[in-house]
Amino acid sequence: MDKQERIKKIYYKTDGYCHICHKKLSLSNYGKRGAKGAWHIEHSKAKANGGTDHLNNLYPACISCNEEKGIMHTQTARGYNRQTRAPYSKAKKQKLKNQNTIGGLVAGAITGSIFGPVGALVGGVIGGAIGENNSPKK
Ligand SMILES: [Zn+2]
Repeated sequence: MDKQERIKKIYYKTDGYCHICHKKLSLSNYGKRGAKGAWHIEHSKAKANGGTDHLNNLYPACISCNEEKGIMHTQTARGYNRQTRAPYSKAKKQKLKNQNTIGGLVAGAITGSIFGPVGALVGGVIGGAIGENNSPKK
């Protein structure tokens, strides 16, 4: 894997959001300190703590988040930003969205069935919309 590909892979792990503060990053501003959405590759488990250079230990982070974090644990650093997890990748978000929509459709259909077939249809549509709205944005 060349360097550029590696950078992209890491960036898309969180759909381009800082894994610590969830701010949007700019793929093309990788390593460009001072640029909008500039970011670094962050070792979730610091090398000083035995972390590796494997992709599963690497996440995109703002340069400031990366520097502030230092060898702090990821959960601690995220906690400072009132976050508990890394932002989801696009694929993961799509999956959750589908699950929510299906869940909403089922719930809506059940609610609607009390009011007959037309109600089931209307309920399903409303339920689906609720599912959509409850989908995580990042
Ligand atoms: Zn950040």
